[in-house]
Amino acid sequence: MYDIIIIGAGPAGMTAAIYGQRAGKSTLMIDKAGYGGNIITTPSVENYPGLKNVSGAEFAQLLFEQAESFGAEYQSAEVKGITDAAGVKTVHTDAGDFDAKAVIIATGQVNRRLGLDREDQLVGSGVSFCATCDGMFFRGRDVAVIGGGNTALEDAEYLAGVANKVYLIHRRDRFRGEQKTVDRLEKLENVEFILNSSPVRFIGDGPVTGLVIKNNLTGEERELAVQGVFEAVGQMPQNTNFADIAELDETGYIKATEACETGRPGIFVAGDCRTKKVRQLDTAAADGTIAALAASEYINSLE
Ligand code: NAP
Repeated sequence: MYDIIIIGAGPAGMTAAIYGQRAGKSTLMIDKAGYGGNIITTPSVENYPGLKNVSGAEFAQLLFEQAESFGAEYQSAEVKGITDAAGVKTVHTDAGDFDAKAVIIATGQVNRRLGLDREDQLVGSGVSFCATCDGMFFRGRDVAVIGGGNTALEDAEYLAGVANKVYLIHRRDRFRGEQKTVDRLEKLENVEFILNSSPVRFIGDGPVTGLVIKNNLTGEERELAVQGVFEAVGQMPQNTNFADIAELDETGYIKATEACETGRPGIFVAGDCRTKKVRQLDTAAADGTIAALAASEYINSLE
């Protein structure tokens, strides 16, 4: 029996493990995709207070080592659900069941898809969600990045250093991501912004050989001869397995207070998977802290 089981080992989950252990509670992190969360694909983190410039992968590794150094445990497994009987929370996974006094759900988000024909089939054959992982396959070639948030901007910047040409395609006339990155991109000769435009379909019977885009103002279509399409159109939560233990909002996020409480005693939620306004690396870490301290207080109240 653990004191606290943390589902998800991203920045929120790993921070929760640090604070749980430091509060004297035994903690187990469970993640199906390896530790680190989505931040591992970010080439450079420049906005985490106190850290000037570190890669997302390095940040995640440091956080994991820090959690381990305090005694947190890690299990690779996919969580199927949580049951709560007589105060014991059982986390059911494909690697067996694990019991705890309290559970923190920190499952983050997964990549949103564009919903185009053959999109799933083309993942790995021209369609990618991770510029730093797959960018090298497109060395010297032409690629498109879809999206207007920080991920899309950073992907475009990274790919500009690898690919021959980068088209950055955004559905509106203004980017959502930071102006500082937009300014840097504007100076790169091999990056072309295509605004007010959305992808319509992939070209090519096998791997991607092109992308058809549509101007959202004029309806005009244009073919881009690209071999890679990097989708960066945001994320969505993956909380359906927890719908019977915590209430979800209409978009699938777990309803929570700012104290990371779900309303069910002993079940807490931290990071991007909960209802909140700002989803950033530091707000995820802050949630991990809050949830771990709340879980520790809950456990103390049982004794
Ligand atoms: P995001 O900020 O939600 O941006 C998603 C982008 O995709 C938006 O520009 C959106 O357009 C566009 N989009 C959504 N659905 C679309 C569709 N069906 N077709 C075409 N475009 C679509 O997502 P993100 O860039 O992944 O970032 C997620 C969070 O992580 C943000 O808070 C971001 O600041 C943060 N982040 C931080 C860093 C960093 O600090 N280094 C790096 C990466 C991400 P609209 O603008 O029109 O809605």
